[in-house]
Amino acid sequence: MKSSEIRDKFLKFFESKGHTIVRSSSLVPGNDPTLMLTNSGMVQFKDVFTGTDSRPYTRATSVQRCVRAGGKHNDLENVGYTARHHTFFEMLGNFSFGDYFKRDAINYAWELLTKVYGLPSEKLTVTVYMEDDEAYDIWANEVGVPKERIIRIGDNKGARYASDNFWQMADTGPCGPCTEIFYDHGADIPGGPPGSPDEDGDRFIEIWNLVFMQFNRDEAGVMHKLPKPCVDTGMGMERLAAVLQHVHSNYEIDLFQALIRAAARETGALDLENKSLRVIADHIRASAFMIVDGVIPGSEGRAYVLRRIIRRALRHGHKLGQTKPFFFKLVQDLNIEMGAAYPELAAVKKRVADMIEAEEVNFGRTLENGMKVLEAQLAKNPGKLDGATAFLLYGTYGFPLDLTADICRERNIEFDEAGFHEAMKRDKEIGGGGTGVKQKNVEYAGEKNKFVGYDSLAHASRVV
Ligand code: ATP
Ligand code: MG
Ligand code: MG
Ligand code: MG
Repeated sequence: MKSSEIRDKFLKFFESKGHTIVRSSSLVPGNDPTLMLTNSGMVQFKDVFTGTDSRPYTRATSVQRCVRAGGKHNDLENVGYTARHHTFFEMLGNFSFGDYFKRDAINYAWELLTKVYGLPSEKLTVTVYMEDDEAYDIWANEVGVPKERIIRIGDNKGARYASDNFWQMADTGPCGPCTEIFYDHGADIPGGPPGSPDEDGDRFIEIWNLVFMQFNRDEAGVMHKLPKPCVDTGMGMERLAAVLQHVHSNYEIDLFQALIRAAARETGALDLENKSLRVIADHIRASAFMIVDGVIPGSEGRAYVLRRIIRRALRHGHKLGQTKPFFFKLVQDLNIEMGAAYPELAAVKKRVADMIEAEEVNFGRTLENGMKVLEAQLAKNPGKLDGATAFLLYGTYGFPLDLTADICRERNIEFDEAGFHEAMKRDKEIGGGGTGVKQKNVEYAGEKNKFVGYDSLAHASRVV
């Protein structure tokens, strides 16, 4: 089943259940200055959930373009390492604004997965929030999922593992339990069931998350029952496509294979399994769609997220031996794959390609020279990259920190992140003189350019 059919079936199914089909909103959230990029389907409905906005419908469904490459949700470090994470992805969602609640939400999800998409029910495992007996009961006694495949999960506060089945919009406001649906890709793939010590493996892949907004948490942390509870769900289109196309990794689905072949064509890579091709295929989607939505590469906020993604893709191209601009050419291929579903891409594809090309030309020379500096330093000290060199690369050659860290990670080299921050602090104290940063740096403009877009490299791969 191709991506277009998967989207279509989802929307039609929920339309048949009385939902209004709502178009994807922009990646730049229109209603939330605290959020850098749209990271889920509920973002455009946030004010409807809190009750400060209203719509002429109480049930909605959408296919929302999302980016998780900075801020609270950052999957940048996972790209190329897991089978299931992208920076850009499409989230299929259904929403109830004070209309139906747990019973219908769970039954709809099950009906869609097992009847419409035809997934074998024995491959599905579900989780519920530890204290949510109501959801447990619906799964066990109404849907009939065997008890050994219903797992209770806590709220991750002091929990041993990463799973977290309690959702909150912020420290105060709407919150409530989740139930998640996982697909078991088979015993030959490493990884344990959700809630187990090796749950981070890719055997059991979370495909759908159903959130039940049930409470309103006040300033004192007290939870009050919402008079009209709501439902917010999200399913990764690419993860579902992998299941439906009988492949394990998202990168093996039709859409990604086309982009990977295009990336191989432009870089000359021969091995289609090469991790760098996956990264490039992922990053062209994020880069292009961010530009479609008006983001311009720059040194702060979402502009810097975009620049980091583009530069990271270029570095992977360089690693494959491509030192000339190539990345912009993939916009054409992306348009072939996604232009029909996203006419906004088709409409501005030339502008998108031009902007990426300009960024490639801009970074090309410093990338080449920076790599030489890096290699020379690593030849001297093979096991570890020091903070001063990382800072030099950052300040003078425009290497985002995550780019340098990515190189170290793939070569199994220890990276002194703390040393980098110290070098940066010292440089700031002496006014940017030490590295010539003041003159040359396009990224680092002192205090106002804090590292936006990720919390800490050490945690980035486990941010949930
Ligand atoms: P995971 O635990 O696998 O990182 P998540 O719990 O962070 O996923 P949610 O925030 O629940 O994800 O998002 C809803 C759905 O969106 C997920 O069930 C998954 O199908 C999809 N999804 C989330 N993050 C990504 C991503 N980086 N790339 C592709 N799909 C994603
Ligand atoms: Mg999860
Ligand atoms: Mg989830
Ligand atoms: Mg996650």
